[in-house]
Amino acid sequence: MIELPILGQDSAESTEGPILGIDLGTTHSLVAVLQHGAPRVLAEGEGNALIPSVVSYPQDGPPVVGKAALARAGFDPQRTIYSCKRLVGRGMDDLRDELATLPYQLVEADDREMALIDLGDRRITPQEVCGRVLSACRELAASELKLPMEQLTRAVITVPAYFDDAQRQATRRAAKLAGLDVLRMVGEPTAAALAYGLDKSGSSRVAVFDLGGGTFDLSILELQDGVFRVLSTSGDTHLGGDDFDRAIMVNCAAEIQQQSGVDVLSDPGARAALRLISERTKKALSSAEEADFVYHDPDRGVAYRRTIDWRTFQGWVAPLVQRTLDSCSMALQDADLTPEDIHEVVLVGGSTRVPLVKAAVSQFFGRTCHDSLDPDTVVALGAAIQAGVLGGQVQNALLLDVTPLSLGIATAEGTVSKLILRNATIPAMAKEGFTTFVDGQTAVKFTILQGERELAKDCRELGEFVLRGIPPMPAGLPQVGVRFHLDADGVLHVRAKEERSGASAAITVKPKHGLTDEEVETMLADAWENAESDLVTRQVADLHGQLSNVRRAVEKHLEVARKNLGPQELERLEEAYEDASDASDITEPGPLKGILDELETAAHPLAEALMNHVASDAVRNRNVTELIDE
Ligand code: ADP
Ligand code: MG
Repeated sequence: MIELPILGQDSAESTEGPILGIDLGTTHSLVAVLQHGAPRVLAEGEGNALIPSVVSYPQDGPPVVGKAALARAGFDPQRTIYSCKRLVGRGMDDLRDELATLPYQLVEADDREMALIDLGDRRITPQEVCGRVLSACRELAASELKLPMEQLTRAVITVPAYFDDAQRQATRRAAKLAGLDVLRMVGEPTAAALAYGLDKSGSSRVAVFDLGGGTFDLSILELQDGVFRVLSTSGDTHLGGDDFDRAIMVNCAAEIQQQSGVDVLSDPGARAALRLISERTKKALSSAEEADFVYHDPDRGVAYRRTIDWRTFQGWVAPLVQRTLDSCSMALQDADLTPEDIHEVVLVGGSTRVPLVKAAVSQFFGRTCHDSLDPDTVVALGAAIQAGVLGGQVQNALLLDVTPLSLGIATAEGTVSKLILRNATIPAMAKEGFTTFVDGQTAVKFTILQGERELAKDCRELGEFVLRGIPPMPAGLPQVGVRFHLDADGVLHVRAKEERSGASAAITVKPKHGLTDEEVETMLADAWENAESDLVTRQVADLHGQLSNVRRAVEKHLEVARKNLGPQELERLEEAYEDASDASDITEPGPLKGILDELETAAHPLAEALMNHVASDAVRNRNVTELIDE
């Protein structure tokens, strides 16, 4: 840890330094601050601002971060952890796709479903790795700003727009490990738009095209009254500059094999070297018409040299670029827009320097893209501006994001009562009333769900909690208000309160683990595909639920009915009641609805007879949650 004497006059008045803006990237991270009204990325001296998001854990010494860690990747791959952002807040199930490509080992934690990294002699969490990267950002800031570490304890951190609760919470814990309090998490696309000052441009819709090292994200934002909302997101968690490198590597390796008969890719060391040469060649082709690819391995008798021109390179990567455009189409479709509806296009990520990418995106949207800011630093600049907003240095900017999947509660019928809908603007708040199911019930269990499907079993369970201490009352009388609050960081706080007694319970959802964006897409696709059959199933489940509520109420008061109803009324009620009792096998909504309507009508005289009695409440209240016997 570096500590430096306090310089400058600010420090005399305030013990708190500036709020840091941090772009925690998959391959690189950056830190920026707002100084004299302008965002500035911090770099070591005149050097590079990019801190490789890599941590290496030597067997016999303290962990090293950044460039030093990257240098160890070649000879200590199992203890050199990169791409920790892909792992944070995820469970093993989420990471199945990654397992094959990561050179280090992942294992499942004993107690939770979280994935851990196995170094052989010990296990570490992905957030501890991210924490060390964030620590490096904080130390760089301390050294460049000449401030003691204690004064740099607050940060704004950017995350992909699609990060879910678990991923955001894990990122927050990582920051805590680095001694940073996260004042706000901002979506990366929102930060990029802010860096270009598009919040003041007056244009309303912005597409942010972010092609990094290993990930591609396309987000569509809408500006309303100076506020950004994310209209939709799309992308590919395994598409980026690494694939461009691989395209060069594979083509050259094939030629090497043809010429010398050596399969260079079979050797891990050679592959690492070829990857670096490929990346260098790719970068050169961003500003020159041709570049040389040179690889010598005297031990294996390889002496290879090839001049690659930009047309050849374009041919190799064109299918990859096409995939990014396909994602653009999807995001537009999802937001019900066409390319003409987009007013500004922002390029983010190192791979947007590739001329073909720029040209393809411009052509797709039919307009010139914003590319005047360095695409590597634009997100960090936006984070610094947001930090300035929170620190009171910048006014009139408030940033919003959306939730990728709906959030709701399981009902007794096995359906989902959705409180916060997909694509709702974060922060979001919603309330719904529930009541008890049987007389004297003193506790209610709530199961919190995420997903678009109509049935609870098809959605993802985020957590559950029990509201206890409801005074014994007849069924349907307690009024339980459930409040969902999805805060600015995408963390869900749920509170249930019984209004008469004041009994309450709350939970901050501790998701078992996050969802990959493929899973989010699959869940959405499933929801569309099954929308119709789900709807029928849901209707039938709801009708059965209502029917059994009314039946229960009638059953309870059959004695009252026999004493108080006329013979015809009683006969009709008894028949309807019998039909309802026989209805459990019916799976079509039409006939069920008929039986329910008839029972309700037949029960009217009874309800009148029971005036001032709670039965009517029980009949009316249908959103009943699962019963817990205490
Ligand atoms: P991430 O957000 O995933 O951390 P970055 O935005 O830092 O990624 O982008 C890194 C990628 O950009 C790498 O694949 C790198 O090779 C590529 N890149 C950087 N500079 C250039 C360039 N001049 N031309 C082409 N690609 C580049
Ligand atoms: Mg990035």
